[in-house]
Parts: sequence; structure tokens; C-alpha cells
Amino acid sequence: MSSSATLQDTNIETQFLSVAINVPLRRLFEYSFRLDSAIAPQIGMRVEVLFAGRVKIGIILKVSSKAQFDRNKIKPIQRLLEAFPIASPSLLAIYDWMQKYYHAPPGEIWQTLLPNKLLKGEDCQLKRSSVWRITSQGQEILQQNKLPKKAVQQHKILHLLNQTEQGIAHDSLKYFAISHSSMKSLAGKKYVEKTFTQTIISSKLQFQQQDLQLNTEQSEAIKSVCEKLDRYQSWLLFGVTASGKTEVYIRIIWQIIKQGKQALLLVPEIGLTPQTVKRFADRFNTKIELLHSAISDQQRLQVWLKAQSGEAKIIIGTRSALFVPMKHPGIIIIDEEHDLSFRQQQGFRYSARDIAMVRGHIESIPVLLGSATPSIETLANVDKGKIKQLSLRHKAMTAQQLKYRVIDLKNQSMRQGLSLELIQVIQHHLKQQGQVLLFLNRRGYSPVLLCHLCGWSSECKRCESHFTYHHASQYLQCHHCGSSRRAPDTCPQCSGQQMVPVGLGTERLEESVQQIFSHAKIRRIDRDTTRKKQAMDNYVEEIKSGEVDLLIGTQMLAKGHHFPKVTLVALVDMDGALYSSDFRAPEFAAQLITQVSGRAGRSDQQGEVVIQTHHIEHPMLSQIIQQGYSAFAKQCIAERKQTLLPPFSYHALFQAEAPQIPAVKQFLHEAKNILNQYHTTQVDLLGPVPSFYTKKAGKYRYQLFLESANRKQLHQLLAKSISQIEQLKSSTRVRWRLEVDPISD
Ligand code: ADP
Ligand code: ZN
Ligand code: ZN
Repeated sequence: MSSSATLQDTNIETQFLSVAINVPLRRLFEYSFRLDSAIAPQIGMRVEVLFAGRVKIGIILKVSSKAQFDRNKIKPIQRLLEAFPIASPSLLAIYDWMQKYYHAPPGEIWQTLLPNKLLKGEDCQLKRSSVWRITSQGQEILQQNKLPKKAVQQHKILHLLNQTEQGIAHDSLKYFAISHSSMKSLAGKKYVEKTFTQTIISSKLQFQQQDLQLNTEQSEAIKSVCEKLDRYQSWLLFGVTASGKTEVYIRIIWQIIKQGKQALLLVPEIGLTPQTVKRFADRFNTKIELLHSAISDQQRLQVWLKAQSGEAKIIIGTRSALFVPMKHPGIIIIDEEHDLSFRQQQGFRYSARDIAMVRGHIESIPVLLGSATPSIETLANVDKGKIKQLSLRHKAMTAQQLKYRVIDLKNQSMRQGLSLELIQVIQHHLKQQGQVLLFLNRRGYSPVLLCHLCGWSSECKRCESHFTYHHASQYLQCHHCGSSRRAPDTCPQCSGQQMVPVGLGTERLEESVQQIFSHAKIRRIDRDTTRKKQAMDNYVEEIKSGEVDLLIGTQMLAKGHHFPKVTLVALVDMDGALYSSDFRAPEFAAQLITQVSGRAGRSDQQGEVVIQTHHIEHPMLSQIIQQGYSAFAKQCIAERKQTLLPPFSYHALFQAEAPQIPAVKQFLHEAKNILNQYHTTQVDLLGPVPSFYTKKAGKYRYQLFLESANRKQLHQLLAKSISQIEQLKSSTRVRWRLEVDPISD
């Protein structure tokens, strides 16, 4: 008895595990494990545990022979889920950084880092698809015509396999009307064999060189990056639109995979830019693995595992793909690095761009950020020497400069959103067989539906903002909370019959443009017209082939598309983007104008850009047009430096929401009191004040704002106070979150 007690005390047999579990608490939970099997628990393994009576999957983050809490109260785990850690040392290091930087609950961070299936306890087995190929014996039989005359089906199969170098996937046999049993009988005679895809892929990596001659700037950029592939370095590829950035990525990736390493490319939205993926697929014979929101959890897990095993050489994905493990990491590329989609804006909020640089550091690999309109943060990092800039100053296929024209809308007579001058310019371009793109960042028919008799307007009571009127579907839809209802034919207030749509959305613009240019083929592209799978693919083909004369689109069309036939781009309404209380508004507007403009004149024809606005004198507008984005950015950086705005100061935000205002205010006041206890003069505390959108989906939103010129001080303050804030009673009556480096919403 006494001897076994001693043994227990020194804990040779029992280990204590600190586990991250998906609950909104900023702490780990302790469980015990008896070392009675061959497998010992290690950091980064998944475990199944009982938490509050329910089975949960957690990640082991610490293993110790000593208990932190009363060991008699510590429960044993249910089981270990694997024999080897699923989270690599570098993923664990990324987790560590994120936990310290974002002050988020460990379990919530792991929800972001791992694929859903793994979080639900799925086995991490790579499901290989098997492929049937003809053997040399089979080829011989076929050539010498030695098959029995009656074996028509067998002959057909061998003939088919003989023609396909890659073989036929087992899952695809049905498409060739081949039965499994005939395959089995051929295999029995050793005429065919089953192999795995992997062996085929790795046998001969190939690259389509293409005839395209790199220009000097492209070659220099590729050379600079490729000279330092074996270490961490962040690069900014600052290349004007259509300067051939994608070609630079492709050539660098080829160097990477030739060295047996893997490349990860992040793009804003894969569904919207199918051509980007196609350009890569056309150039490499290895399978391009895709990670984005439209794939199933099962597919995501498979890609994740293929990347982890080193089999996936090129992975293209959206924001969350950043966390895919790589056995032989080679490079991380972020295309359109300024794009806001690289910030997670729901649930646990993070910046994939910032974490990419952290990951590059941890894994000693280069990180390449590409954009025609780099974010102010990135350009400030170039100034600081943290990022090295590479420039592509010219369009790859044309020497022509864009021609800009700003139309002053003050006192102009308009036809449904288009000035007469713009209508003439459009006519001119259509006559010259050029495609025209009209940009309007507001979908729906009109942002408001109004009663002409009594002034009633369609308001979403849950958000205190207007319902957008959608004409074709006859619906009112709130673009903040998504709620919708049928549009009334008569006024709900006075029963009057004069309901008028007020303002201009893309649906209405399409209607009016069709009236003015009745012979033109028009295509509208926004979230309403691209809901169906493949819709975007089809539109893109249609536009490229020249079937479409006039394109109408939102933000979706501003991103990375290459439409060689577009010669005129018109920004129909720039007023909203020019004026906003957000200090980042000028940056976003400058990026938008430059990106949208960049859709014009991508081949050898002269491109023209028209901007309609009531604020022709806006300084940013003339600067962008006359001097370009670089000059604008320089001035923007200088201004932010002077006024101590990010990235020259650091922000954090506590936001809380609830159906009643007092609960929200009480929580934020109590949080503020806690912050004040640790307060330093170096951190400013503002609020609680109402958030920009004060009411959303029936909940009132307030915030507490923290600002400091000293990042370390800010983070120390957060680290010291966050658990206390989390334990406030008042926190249970609201939904709250802490956001580091917030972007207004
Ligand atoms: P970006 O990614 O900078 O917008 P792309 O890579 O899409 O630019 O290039 C725009 C077009 O120019 C593409 O059709 C591409 O094939 C072509 N291109 C790229 N590099 C060259 C080059 N060196 N010479 C000729 N054409 C090029
Ligand atoms: Zn009315
Ligand atoms: Zn709403």
C-alpha cells in the first residue's frame, strides 16, 4: 500500500494534461492520464474529455507530472485520439503567438486552426483515391490481339486504359460504364493494376514555360525572391494592375516545387476568380489543391492531410487556408494583400496577413504580399524595413496609360443615375466594339422604398436602417441583418398607392441602361445574380468571349479579373466612398478607384475611366488620378503618422451587444473599471459609446475603445485584465468580444 502510494505521489504513472476546449473561457482545463498503454500523451494531440457532462474534443497544450489543481478533483481523459500530434510544432507556435496577441479563448483559436472534421474527432486518415492502369502484360496482350474474341468488354477496357497515361480513377469507372467485376477479373490475369494517385503525381513534375518573355522588372523580382528561399523574408510585390504579378508568382512557385517544397497561395475569393486557379492549373501538371468555403468538410480535411503529408505541392485558398500544415513549407503568397477578406470579421477576429508573416518567421520561409494598391500598414512596414519592396511599374501587355475623366454631377441633368456626358462616352466605346463596365457598389433596386403620400419608408426595426428594395423578387431585404419580407404594394401606414423606389442600386441601373442602350447585351454581376454554383464561371467566359457589351457590377467585379475587351470603366456613384467617419475611408476609396480602373485597358487598347461625383474637388481624387496610388499612400502615411493613427498607434476594442441598452452599458462600465485598475498613462480608454451601427438584428451595440502609441503597454493591460473581465457577472447578460487591431464595422 505505502509503496504504491509513493509511486503515485511521484506521478510516474499519472500525467496531467492542460487541454484547450472550445468554450468561451480564456483558460486551459486539466485532466489526468494513466500511462497504462503504449502511447504517451504529447503536446498537439487531440483528446476526448468529459466537460460539464458532455463529450468534447480538446487539444493537449501541456503535459506535466505535477497537477496544478487538487489532483483528487481532476478527471481522467476519455481517450487519446491519435498516436502522433496532429498539430505540428509550428502550428503550436502560431497558436502561441495568436493567443498572446489576440487574447482570445484557446478553444476558439483552435476552432480556427484545425479543420472541422478533426475538431469533431474524425480520424486523420488520408483517403487515397485509387487508379486503374494497364500493366505491360496487358499492353502485350492488347498489341498481339491475344484476347479471346468473345471478351469484347475486356478488350474495350484495355484499349481505353492503354490510351490514358494517368489511368482511370476507381471512382470514375461508372462514367465509362465499366463494372467493378470486369476490372477484378482483368486484375486477376495481371493485365491491369490498382495504384494510388500519389505515385503518379510525384513521378514527373512539369512546368509549362509559355512563350511569354519576362520583362526586366518581373525577372528582377523573381530573382530577388529566389535568392532567399531558405529563410524568412517578407516581400511586397507592388505591381500596377495587369503588370504580370501572377506570372511572377507562377515562376517563383515553380522554383519552390522543384526544390521539393510546397507553396501556399492565398487569394480573396476563389469562387469569384476561377480563372486565377485555371492559370495555375494550366501551367503545372501537379494537382492544385483548393481550400475555400464552398468545399465540404470532408474535402477540406483531405486537402489538409495531403498538405501535411507533403503530397499537395500547390495549395490555393482563402483566408483560413493560412493554417494548412506543410511538411516541406516553401513560401506563402498573399495576392491582393490589401483585401479586407484577409481579416476574419466574425467570431474570432484575426488578420491572415499579419499571421502569415508570423508563420513565415516561425517556419523560416519567405512571405510574398502582392497588390496594385498595398495597404497602408504594409507600406509603412516597407518604410520601417520590415518588408522589402519589389516593383512592377508598367502594364505587361500595353504601354498605354489610362485616360481619366471626372464628371461633376452638380447641376447635371441625369438619366437614372447616368449623366448625359457619361451616356455619350459609353456610346462611343460601344461603337468601337469596346466592352463597358459600370461599377456601382450597391446591389438591389433601390436602397429605400418610400410612400410619396405620407413619407413612410421601409425601415428594418431590428437595425434602424433601411430595407433595400429588390424589384424582380418583390422583396425588401435588410443588408445588415439579412431579414426580408415581401415589398408592400400599398403603403402600410396610409394605404396609399404611390410607393416610390428612392436611390440607385445595380438592379435598377441594369433596367435603365437597358432602356438607353436597347441593343446592347447587358450582364449584371452581383451577389444576387451569382448565387448559383458555376454562375460566375459562365459569366466570366461570356464576358471574355465578347458576347457581352455592357457589364454592371459591384465590388465583386473589382477583384482581380482579367477582361481584355473592357475599354471603359465608369464609377457611377463615388460620393458615399469619399465621405465617411472612418479614418480608413480614404485608403479604401483610393484602393477601390485604382482597382476598378485597373479593369480597363488590360490589353493593347486605350483604356478610359470615368468617375461621377458631386465632390470633384476632393483632394484624394485628384491625387489618385494625377499621381497614382503610390503618391496617395505616401501622403496618407504621413498624415497617419502626424495624427498618431494606425499603424502609428495601436487599437483594441471591447464591443458588447444585447437587446437592452442598460445591460450593455453596465458590462462595459465594469470592464472599464477593471482596465482602470491597471491603467497606465500610455493607454487611452474611451467610452463606452455607441458603435457605428448602433443597432443590429435587434441588439444594441456599444463599445469601449483602447488606444496607445505603445503596443507592449496595450497588450500588457489586456493580458492583466482580460480574465477578470471575462468573469464579470454582467458579462453573462450580453454578447461581448475583444478585437485587436479593429477595422470599423
Ligand atoms: P496582374 O496579376 O499583375 O494583374 P497578370 O499576371 O494577370 O497581371 O497579367 C496580365 C496579363 O499580362 C496576362 O494576360 C498575362 O498573361 C500577361 N503577361 C504577364 N507577363 C507578361 C510578359 N512578360 N509579357 C507579355 N505579357 C505578359
Ligand atoms: Zn403612406
Ligand atoms: Zn436589419
